[in-house]
Amino acid sequence: MTRRPDVVVIGGGSAGSVFAARISENPDLRVTLLESGRGFDADWPPELLDASTLPIGPGSEWTDVIDVELTPNRPSSIARGRVLGGSGAVNGAYFVRARPEDFAPWPQSQWSWPQVLAAYRRTETDMDFGGADHGSDGPMPVIRSASPTPITESFETACVRNGFTHVPDLNSHTAGDGFGRVPSNVSEGKRINAALAYLVPARNRTNLEIRTETSVGRILFDGTTVVGVEGRDANGPFVLECDRVVLAAGAVRTPGLLMHSGIGPESELRALGIEVLVDLPGVGRGVRDHPEVAVPYSLPHNSIGGTPLQSVLHHDGLELRPFSSSFDRMIAGLPVSDPSIGVALMNPTSRGDIVVPRDPYEPPRIRYRYLESADDRDALAAGVELARSLLATMGFEPDAPAALTSRLGTSLHLCGSARMGDDDSAVVDERCRVRGVDGLSVVDTSVFASVPSRGPHASALMVAERAAELYRHRL
Ligand SMILES: Cc1cc2nc3c(=O)[nH]c(=O)nc-3n(C[C@H](O)[C@H](O)[C@H](O)COP(=O)(O)OP(=O)(O)OC[C@H]3O[C@@H](n4cnc5c(N)ncnc54)[C@H](O)[C@@H]3O)c2cc1C
Repeated sequence: MTRRPDVVVIGGGSAGSVFAARISENPDLRVTLLESGRGFDADWPPELLDASTLPIGPGSEWTDVIDVELTPNRPSSIARGRVLGGSGAVNGAYFVRARPEDFAPWPQSQWSWPQVLAAYRRTETDMDFGGADHGSDGPMPVIRSASPTPITESFETACVRNGFTHVPDLNSHTAGDGFGRVPSNVSEGKRINAALAYLVPARNRTNLEIRTETSVGRILFDGTTVVGVEGRDANGPFVLECDRVVLAAGAVRTPGLLMHSGIGPESELRALGIEVLVDLPGVGRGVRDHPEVAVPYSLPHNSIGGTPLQSVLHHDGLELRPFSSSFDRMIAGLPVSDPSIGVALMNPTSRGDIVVPRDPYEPPRIRYRYLESADDRDALAAGVELARSLLATMGFEPDAPAALTSRLGTSLHLCGSARMGDDDSAVVDERCRVRGVDGLSVVDTSVFASVPSRGPHASALMVAERAAELYRHRL
């Protein structure tokens, strides 16, 4: 496609891939997708497909590394996908829906549970369950492991012995607390990312152009109306004119793109020397994620394999994750470590910030402010105790107890950095349109109105499906 696009989508990750594929079903709409990372058609590198490992280790060519502060005294770094398919191309392939009650803070005019459920159903072909809850002809295959590892079996037996309920389908809207098999976006051992599921089948459309290894630095405006984007690729800097822009650069990068385009908290924009177009104090603020504490244990034969996570327990706002093997087995380049149960807090009180750098192409930093509240500390401590007693039932020896902070990590489930709503700190409205400007929308996990009490990947696709549907009525 050489004509001027109607719409530019920035970021071909989980949400951007779905959104670009869906809106380009309209042959009259010219869509250009710009993605920083590399892209593939049929020839995906094996490490991006192998669902038993995550290609995010030191030196990975498929990720951005972001410096973070989990607590003021606990610096760390996290990975985000920088490749077509985005973080979903490098993730754990755990494809679980949020709970109906998670959507209570979302604008109900467009995100009521029936609307949300219909969009979830469009994303998937569920191989195990049908009926009104599930999709049977969506692009993403969803399957639960039928050949559990010994760790999974032992964990599930321990859950039964400790009185927890078995939940056959974690994606059912009636699923409550209990343990169950993880739904995964895996087919024949391959991690199916959103680009593979949605974009590859659409790539020959004459109205869809996919430009990879192309980064956007800012969005251009005439007054407050979008007129194009400025970026750079292998040929150097470029300007691409268009009528509308949809920002899908993910919860970490989307705030920086907004701010470098003059949209964000006025004081921060001025400190960065950026001319203020719209003062939106919520950009990059109030970020949510799931803090996670590892409970390691010794295992005589640490060679379990399988998908990284096959079963989980939900209990009292916690998710307990018995990983199939130690992280060094799942992620190349990590030091040898014991296997662990991850204890994640699924509705934490902590709120973080994205700290945007002066250079629009440099990664931001994240200040999480984990464990500031006694409620979060107490809930995680209770989860660690629960994991230790399950390990005891499994016949394993947990490592000696340690301070929460020493084993603190994060689930890499960032959301809410350009939140949807109608209050003063909301950044987009109920149709994902950025407030105060014309022609700019955000469609990625930045817009989540609340942190879901489950992993966000399935919900990233759902949001893009629903936003594409709303787009037909002008986004
Ligand atoms: C290692 C890892 C494991 C995870 N495991 C799970 C899991 O098992 N289950 C689960 O539910 N969730 C998981 N998550 C979270 C989940 O994958 C993400 O929440 C989801 O993929 C986010 O989708 P997104 O579209 O918002 O952003 P992304 O998928 O991150 O997409 C953003 C895209 O924008 C591109 N981009 C960024 N800046 C620019 C720019 N300036 N110009 C052009 N392109 C740009 C990026 O390269 C990227 O491709 C995991 C995340 C990670 C990182």
